[in-house]
Amino acid sequence: MESEKEYSLISVPQQRRCGPFESEDAAWHYLFGRDYDEHDIAQHQEAGWSVELRDEVSCPWTEDDDGVWNTQCGEMFEFTNDGPPENRFEFCPYCGKYIKVRGTLGKLNELSKQAQELDIDY
Ligand SMILES: [Zn+2]
Repeated sequence: MESEKEYSLISVPQQRRCGPFESEDAAWHYLFGRDYDEHDIAQHQEAGWSVELRDEVSCPWTEDDDGVWNTQCGEMFEFTNDGPPENRFEFCPYCGKYIKVRGTLGKLNELSKQAQELDIDY
């Protein structure tokens, strides 16, 4: 399996992201378009920019049986139709991270299996 070290340049206030970059350095370089020093970075971090490993900046959303999405940051969201990708939700509106949709099929299969087992027990 390939390494999943992908860095993204993120601005939470602006809901922007660039990347992936292969290193943190490459990401900052892209933002500044020139050589930079730690003052440049500090200034931009204050403004909400950051460089993160992609896996660390996602907020997994899980749909429950009522069609309500539970976010990992502890909120709930209900769509009129479908889920986050269909509604072009890319960032979690609560914590600003990427939305990572958790598959529910496995869970549903498990539940129906349990139900079947219960039926047999009856
Ligand atoms: Zn979130």
